[in-house]
Amino acid sequence: MGKLLFSLLLLALSTTAVSAQQYDVVLEGGRIMDPETGMNAVRNVGIRDGKIARISSEGLSGRRVVHAAGLIVAPGFIDLHQHGQDFLSQRVKALDGVTTALELEIGAPDVAQFLKAKEGHSLIHYGASASHVAARSLAFGAPLASDAILPKSGPATDKPATPEQIEVIRERLRGELDAGGLAVGMGIQYTPGATRLEVIDMFRLAAERRLPVYTHVRSSGRVEPGSSIESISEVIGAAAISGASLHIVHINSSCARDSLECLSMIEGARARGLDVTTEAYPYIAGMTAINSALFNLGWQDKLGISYGNLLLPETGEHLTQERFEALHNSSTHHLVVIFSNTQEAVDQVITHPLVMIASDGAPGHPRNAGTYSRVLAQYVREQASITLMDALRKMSLMPAQMLERSTPAARQKGRLQEGADADIAVFDAATISDRSTYSLIFFKLGLVPSTRNFLKLTQPSVMIVIE
Ligand SMILES: [Zn+2]
Repeated sequence: MGKLLFSLLLLALSTTAVSAQQYDVVLEGGRIMDPETGMNAVRNVGIRDGKIARISSEGLSGRRVVHAAGLIVAPGFIDLHQHGQDFLSQRVKALDGVTTALELEIGAPDVAQFLKAKEGHSLIHYGASASHVAARSLAFGAPLASDAILPKSGPATDKPATPEQIEVIRERLRGELDAGGLAVGMGIQYTPGATRLEVIDMFRLAAERRLPVYTHVRSSGRVEPGSSIESISEVIGAAAISGASLHIVHINSSCARDSLECLSMIEGARARGLDVTTEAYPYIAGMTAINSALFNLGWQDKLGISYGNLLLPETGEHLTQERFEALHNSSTHHLVVIFSNTQEAVDQVITHPLVMIASDGAPGHPRNAGTYSRVLAQYVREQASITLMDALRKMSLMPAQMLERSTPAARQKGRLQEGADADIAVFDAATISDRSTYSLIFFKLGLVPSTRNFLKLTQPSVMIVIE
């Protein structure tokens, strides 16, 4: 059963009968790039009923023809890690070439509600994991606010769960997976009270359903105990013990200057037969809730940063100790941008063959709008440190392959091939660039045109054209 959900934009498909040669949409004369088959040639693409029906060097006739000469025609990008699930965020994702944006890192607090709210109202494909963080909050009698995915730090995040509470967490997660959760989502750093055994138990639950675990690991930095290396070891160990597939989110921010070491640990695990994958976003700053457990006592030593490295996007201010304490102790949910990484570490991670691109996007950080164009502009065109085909592989095929091991619908995605879903990104490789920044004005507008070079196809009768 395909669990990857999608919805259609509001325009209805025409039901007019078409001749065998007539396509709903034809993309004419673009350069087809398919990372799976290696196809890299100028062709015409005929789309019918939401599928790529024909790829041909012969002329094709369509009710709608898009002249794509000089442009790249690639599989739509699949973002495994997108927190901003509002319509405006979906819009900027589409402008960044993303046709599927999934909330898998932490997951939705209520999967059924998440799916219902999107049905018939979603611009791009969507889905979510079942949230261990939310299930744990519930078991401690402190359910998350409906607009939050992370709890304020407190007993529900910092204390070990009793065996009875573990059972409540398990039952909740089983129900969430039944409701359509694509995986178990864990943010271990946001629930530091979770013991190693609790983590293993959650991996076992995922394995029982043959579903993967997506996780933000327990800690980052070089201070032992609690280093990045220890944190990566913990989840690789849990994957080995349980048999669950493991996806480690944002290896760039979880491992920072030790990213290459962390990647070599993942390579080692894979060489021993474990299904362990990872992803990164192309920015030196991260972002999270300032009242979360990530900022529990000792965060400066762990992350090697201080108050001035924190930026509040709402006001544009860099924090002081006084301001930090007020915000950290507040029950109001404020997101803060964290400058904690080096450009050198980010560059090493993005170009590493094991690393997929995923945005970790939410309003307030430029990655919400610019992740994919930034990779194409900076790493493919300017630095030439990865090829265009390799970048497309990291953005489309690799995430589809990760997903399809438990979500069969993903087999039709991430490919520019006959029979695949018509999720397609069309762009000008010579000019595409990200335009979103950390500045306040973009946050307030909530609309950041990251690029003007995309033609984005959501389904045959709907096309967003950005000149
Ligand atoms: Zn995270």
